[in-house]
Amino acid sequence: MPMDAPHHPQHATYDAVIVGGGHNGLVAAAYLARAGRRVLVLERLPATGGAAVSTRAFAGVDARLSRYSYLVSLLPARITDELGLRFAVRRRRISSYTPRGTTGLLVDAGDAGRTREQFAALTGSDRDFEAWQRFYGMTRRVAEAVFPTLTEPLPSRTALQERIGDPAAWEALFERPLGETVEAAFADDLVRGVVLTDALIGTFTHAHDPSLRQNRCFLYHVIGGGTGDWDVPVGGMGAFTDALADAARAAGAEIVTGAEVTAVASDGARAEVSYEGDGGGHTVGARHVLVNAAPHTLARLLGEPAPGPAPEGAQLKVNMLLSRLPRLRDTAVDPREAFAGTFHIAEGYGQLAAAYEQAAAGVLPSAPPSEIYCHSLTDPSILAPELAARGVHTLTLFGLHAPARLFAADPAGAKEALLAATLAQLDAVLAEPLADCLLTDADGKPCLEAKSPLDLEREVGLPGGHIFHRDLSWPYADDDGDLHGERDRVTYATGRWGVGTPYENVFLCGAGAARGGGVSGVPGHNAAMAVLEKA
Ligand SMILES: Cc1cc2nc3c(=O)[nH]c(=O)nc-3n(C[C@H](O)[C@H](O)[C@H](O)COP(=O)(O)OP(=O)(O)OC[C@H]3O[C@@H](n4cnc5c(N)ncnc54)[C@H](O)[C@@H]3O)c2cc1C
Repeated sequence: MPMDAPHHPQHATYDAVIVGGGHNGLVAAAYLARAGRRVLVLERLPATGGAAVSTRAFAGVDARLSRYSYLVSLLPARITDELGLRFAVRRRRISSYTPRGTTGLLVDAGDAGRTREQFAALTGSDRDFEAWQRFYGMTRRVAEAVFPTLTEPLPSRTALQERIGDPAAWEALFERPLGETVEAAFADDLVRGVVLTDALIGTFTHAHDPSLRQNRCFLYHVIGGGTGDWDVPVGGMGAFTDALADAARAAGAEIVTGAEVTAVASDGARAEVSYEGDGGGHTVGARHVLVNAAPHTLARLLGEPAPGPAPEGAQLKVNMLLSRLPRLRDTAVDPREAFAGTFHIAEGYGQLAAAYEQAAAGVLPSAPPSEIYCHSLTDPSILAPELAARGVHTLTLFGLHAPARLFAADPAGAKEALLAATLAQLDAVLAEPLADCLLTDADGKPCLEAKSPLDLEREVGLPGGHIFHRDLSWPYADDDGDLHGERDRVTYATGRWGVGTPYENVFLCGAGAARGGGVSGVPGHNAAMAVLEKA
């Protein structure tokens, strides 16, 4: 993560001051600067990127790990093209692998025949494979219709429904709890679990939640790029945000790091942004303020009541380096294939429900569900050549159903206990203990770091450690022009682009905006469009 030399803003006032230099703030900065606006980005951390960064996390080991976010799906090619970014993603051939005892289910995106055989061997028939083909054919058609709308003005509910043009798909994804559809379509518990995980990543909920937050989370996991594929960022997440920072600067934007914004005051036409940095307090003037920080943070900066309930993250992120890939109990699959895709652990449908119930009741799940993935199998460029030559690999683990509240009383103890229980689930499907495969760093310590929601709040400023800043929203406005559901109670993320606030000149440009969440650049793009449209 390159550190930016601290410096002071060059001007007393700007066309746009952007609060936060996460990837969305940088996207907004690049668009506005390219349109000739005078732009200042204020970032509280020593470097830009927010939750999309690469880090050398272990002493003396030259491996640039995507410390927080790690796969890309929701980033429209249009944004990389329009900003001229030198950044690429690489498709994974293996979509997923899910072990069950000494067997498992390998989904090979490049070989339907092989995948059919895998389903038949696991479930005893072609039934679930055919259901799988139908179900993901349906989500793909929805993706083709919905994804292009993300960078257009927010459609009404009716307009989006018409654009999708498939009443059964609308019913399944937008109207009924996803659990009903999954249970009707699939018979096997493991297959049902593999489908449901996309509804639970970064969202503490269950299959039958009447609020449908699981459906919204699922939707964002299957529409990316119009295909739903999750791709590997070549060079790691930091390569993306570094390219964005370069593009923003090249277009004339100023980026000041180590600058924590403490207040935003606006009369709707002009604004003042106060920040702490370089040993003192400062204020700059702004025609527009774009806020990359979460809506809860924006409320605090404006001195207003919090918008809705406090966000709460619910995941454990673990970054590891391995001296070699572990062998699997399932000898029919090559670890190089199993770990290249998304490797599901303890994510059967019943296991997911049980873990949710335990966590909701205030105890750590006894069999914590998680998914893991090896970046370096698809893109070894994040490893020093010497490490790659030795067969070193990265391992990224994302654990579900770990809400922040479980860590409140004993942050370190709870994290240690959850980590141990999570790794035990992984060990149960390996033919050798993971500990035997961990690389050691220059201090002789195992290359493993774990981040709870509390760590994410402290390190990245995600409120409650919520990876999407707050629960994801539907990608439409209600037909009365407002946002809907939980956001009816919320005053932010309104207007034509879903980025507005009660102040005419203050916009959300981060994950908490409508259609925000994930590494997408979408809310950054949309906030920039909202500003440019006004001027
Ligand atoms: C562990 C983890 C794994 C994830 N995995 C994935 C994944 O694989 N794929 C995916 O698409 N998404 C993933 N996500 C979600 C994704 O990373 C986020 O939704 C996305 O990065 C949000 O981007 P953003 O630019 O809107 O906000 P952020 O990345 O949160 O950036 C906001 C920036 O604002 C700064 N800031 C906050 N307050 C202030 C202030 N007062 N003054 C100045 N600066 C301030 C912060 O320091 C930060 O740099 C993951 C997130 C986490 C945490």
